[in-house]
Order: sequence, then C-alpha cells, then structure tokens
Amino acid sequence: MSKELKICSRCIYDSLIKGITFDNEGVCNYCHQVEKLKLEYKTGSPQGAQDLEIIIEEIKRAGKGKKYDCVVGVSGGTDSSFLLAKAVEWGLRPLAAHYDNTWNTSISTENIRKVTSKLGVDLFTIVVDNKESDDIFRSFLHAGVPEFDCPTDIALAETLYRAASKHKISYLLEGHSFITEGVSPMSNNYFDGKYIEDIHNKYGKLTMKTFPNMTFFNFLKWTLFKRIRKIRPLWYIDYNKEAARKYLEETFDWKYYGGHHMENRSSAFGLSVYLPTKFKIDNRKWALAASARGGFLSREEALAIYNSPIEENPELIEYVKKRLSLSDEEYDQIITGQKRSFRDFKTYKKRFELLRPLFHILAKANLVPMSFYIKYCFPLDER
Ligand SMILES: [Zn+2]
Repeated sequence: MSKELKICSRCIYDSLIKGITFDNEGVCNYCHQVEKLKLEYKTGSPQGAQDLEIIIEEIKRAGKGKKYDCVVGVSGGTDSSFLLAKAVEWGLRPLAAHYDNTWNTSISTENIRKVTSKLGVDLFTIVVDNKESDDIFRSFLHAGVPEFDCPTDIALAETLYRAASKHKISYLLEGHSFITEGVSPMSNNYFDGKYIEDIHNKYGKLTMKTFPNMTFFNFLKWTLFKRIRKIRPLWYIDYNKEAARKYLEETFDWKYYGGHHMENRSSAFGLSVYLPTKFKIDNRKWALAASARGGFLSREEALAIYNSPIEENPELIEYVKKRLSLSDEEYDQIITGQKRSFRDFKTYKKRFELLRPLFHILAKANLVPMSFYIKYCFPLDER
C-alpha cells in the first residue's frame, strides 16, 4: 500500500511508532535515547556504582533513628523482588509495600511472602475491597478506554507514598530498568487520579471508599510538602532479568509466572486479551525491543516472538467474565464496541500543563520523575 515498513536495525521498533526517526545506519532515536541514558547514569560502570553508593549513603543518613529508611514497592514480579533483595544487600532498611487489587495470582502472593520473610523485611499492604475493585475495572471496560489496568498503577503509587508518609520515610525505590524495559515511546495513553474518578462516576455503581486514589491534592502533598523522593537504582547498575530470575529462584524459591506484568490477572488480561483484541495494541514490543537492544535476545529472535500471535488464555477470559458478572453478549459488546480515549474524560492534564514550570523544578530536585514532567506537563499531540 503506502511506503514499506521500516524496522530499526538494532531493536524492533518500526516506522509505525509515534515520533520515530532513523539515523544513517538505520538505528532509531529510541535506541539513541537509551544510549544517552546509559551515558548519563553511567549504567553498569564503576562510576555508576559509585554514584549509586552516594545515593544509598544519603538514604541511610536521612533514615537515621527511624525504623525504615526506604520503601520498596513489591508485586511478586522479577524487578521488584530483585530490588528488594538488593536494597537489603546494600545495607538499607526497606519497608516493602504492596497494593493488593485482589486479582493477584497465588504465585505472586507466595513470591512476596517468600522474599520478604527470608529477608526479614516488613510488609505494608493496602487491600482494596474486592467489590469496589471489580466495579472500577468494569467501569473502565464500559468506558471503552485502553487504560484498563491504570487504576492498579495509580493505587500502587499512592500506596507507596502512604507507606512512606506513615513511617516518615523520605525515599521510594522503584524497580524500573530502561535497559530491560526500554523507554516507551510517546503514546496516546494517559491516566491520572481524576481520570479514574470520572470514569468510575460515569460507569460505576458503588462509591469509591477503599481504593487508594491519588488525587491532585495528594500528589502535591507527597511530592511538594512531604518531599518524598523516587529513586531508580537499576538505572545505575548492570541489570539482567534472566540472571535476576535465576538468583531469585535459587535464593528464595521464588517462582516465575511467565511474562512481564503477568503476575496479576488484571494486568495479564489487559496485556494479553483486552489491548490486543480491542485496540490492536501489543505491549510486548517495548520489552522485546529492549531485549534486542541490550543483546539479551538477537534481533531476529525478538522479531520472531513479536510476529507470533499473543497467546490468549481462555481460562483468563472466563475468569474476567465471571468476576465482573459480564454475560458473553456484554463481553463481546465491550470488545467490539466504541473505543474512547482519555480525551473523552476529565483528567488533571490541563492543570499539569499549566503548572509546568513548577513540575520542572520538582523534577530537577528528583521529587517527581523526569518522565512525569515530559509526559504529563506537555500537550501530547505536539510531541
Ligand atoms: Zn531502535
């Protein structure tokens, strides 16, 4: 039809990706972005380790006299379990924090228990009422927006801040790695606490009582007034997911659940069923591109996996229908019905854009992630 699909010569991003450009060697700008981050954070080099050491010392200093010096969010997945073990190894005194959306697989619940108990780390958990959780998930499906699992992400972020605030902890450690996950390209996805509230108001039946939503007020409270900082230690060190998994299996009898973000049924449903069938969105792309880029898989292997269909788990679909009381008809209507986006609902986006100068200062002080500033404080279409 139109011009041929061009694929980056290093990773597997192609010309359909928003904002992509290629250099003379056919390497995409996202590969260059990762190279730049690697230089900036001196990832995996002695200098990177030294920089992280300085941050760790600062975290210890700030935590003197307190029961804990940092919060580590745990999901039972590879990255967060590994980070928690590392934090202990570095001599930190972490408090593990978990948001339970009541859709966990038993593997992930067990993983969290095994790792925290062997490390002797206390666990702070917020459990949402399961009826309320389902009501929120159901509203997102009826709204027809792609951000099905975003309530979990927001609630987890809020849970970590609440854990930190309760114990007067100044630092949150995040298990994100741009080496294994890549930098997700500018997309049309967006979510915040207002978005959840608006969708739930329009399509939900229950009142939001136990769901830990992050309102604009809370966001400012945690970042600006409590000055709780977020650190991503895996940005500084050599991080290999395979090796991390092996280490976790050997040390904690931790179990692999078969894929990135698959430890929880709601994220598994979003990634393997809802997004691909309704929106033709295949989120395996980001991690597969990162694997090819980082040399964990060959580019050909990564492309082969990407070009093979996503495995649909019929039991998972049945689980979702049953849990959310959706008849086959209702379910089909959701999958084939109208698609909407965050632009059709109320969000804090305009407010974040207006306050851009403030968030620039906060980002520079590590009080909000730089990625928040870039993604939330500029109009999406213009970037
Ligand atoms: Zn690339």
